[in-house]
Amino acid sequence: MENFMSDADDISSSYGDETVLTHLGRNPKDQHGFVNTPVVRGSTVLFESFEELESGKRQYAYGRHGNPTNDAVRHVITNLERADDTFLAPSGLSAISTALTAVAHSGDHILISDSAYEPTRQFCESVLRPNKIDVEYYDPRIGSRISDLIRSNTTAILTESPGSLTFEVQDLPAIAQARGNREIAIIADNSWATPLYYKPLELGADIVVHAGTKMFVGHSDVLFGTISTNEKWTNKVRGAYKALGVCVSPEDSFLVARGLRTLSLRMKEHQKRALDLAHWLEGHALVEKVIHPALKQHPDHDIFMRDFTGSGSLFAFTLKDAPKNAVSEMLNHMRLFGMGYSWGGFESLILPVTIKQQRSATRWKEEGNLFRLHIGFEDFDDLKADLDDAIKRYAAEANF
Ligand SMILES: *Cc1c(COP(=O)(O)O)cnc(C)c1O
Repeated sequence: MENFMSDADDISSSYGDETVLTHLGRNPKDQHGFVNTPVVRGSTVLFESFEELESGKRQYAYGRHGNPTNDAVRHVITNLERADDTFLAPSGLSAISTALTAVAHSGDHILISDSAYEPTRQFCESVLRPNKIDVEYYDPRIGSRISDLIRSNTTAILTESPGSLTFEVQDLPAIAQARGNREIAIIADNSWATPLYYKPLELGADIVVHAGTKMFVGHSDVLFGTISTNEKWTNKVRGAYKALGVCVSPEDSFLVARGLRTLSLRMKEHQKRALDLAHWLEGHALVEKVIHPALKQHPDHDIFMRDFTGSGSLFAFTLKDAPKNAVSEMLNHMRLFGMGYSWGGFESLILPVTIKQQRSATRWKEEGNLFRLHIGFEDFDDLKADLDDAIKRYAAEANF
């Protein structure tokens, strides 16, 4: 692991995640007592002498290869994920594409969950497949049966648990066991639960990626990604990462570090509000189904309870099928729920989703129109009223 600036390093192993979030990645003694690691802008780093330049021993030698503001974030995420190291990317998608590029080469076979984030599929189709990497999608509920799909040239298995549109929970320990000792990197997209509620490396994954854009940032104002690796895969990922020239702005890292300080409090609140609203929707006469892995009737609830210690802000519900004008009537007049991509901010969001286009290995069987919700920090009664009115507009337009 690289040498980080914080002297909280020595204490990190014995402290809990909330202490890690508040104390790591900053060292007031190094910055005139000011609490936070400042934004250090720069490309060129000046050397004192020819000998120092030649020694290669400087902690920072060039802006693309490291910077104290960026290291503040790396340090916190590495600790939370129980990882060996963390690399920063300019978006969640860039974290995923960099991780896949590091472990998949021409002639290799890779397995991608059918529930994976749609742009992950697009990267596989438009970059990996044309470069002669055999991409195969698998049923997210496959568990140990993934052993039937593993070939001698398989080099990566990508999981996303739960899927950010359909919320299938994957049996990561079973997948890891089926992988055994083979040189196959299991890459887990952990954006939904964050490392506070799910630790993929402890369950058998090798590489964890995050859309830091979502929960780490928490304010809908930065695009960011992280790649955390276990000891086995650090060098391989670092090699590809450096060669590709992937790097991030220290301004963005500063905002991510700031977001991380309140991650635990925000997640607790997101979790509670999302569950309250999910329960309320379950009892709503016009709602067909609520899809949230923390609800008892979710098909993967047992795996969820076994492997996760909490749940996120994001879940879905379905309404009986109705023509587009009902969806339009419902969404166009919402007062609080914003309509837009992404999630993870302080504000609530709703997104209509059509799943069919995003599937190839499995068929999405849920009937009706699906809406994905991100629950933010508005007053609960105001959110309920906004959603209730919206659902009633939908039903009225559809003549239910
Ligand atoms: C948003 C998202 C990404 C991509 O993150 P960007 O920062 O938008 O590139 C990846 N995975 C999941 C699960 C996401 O929700």
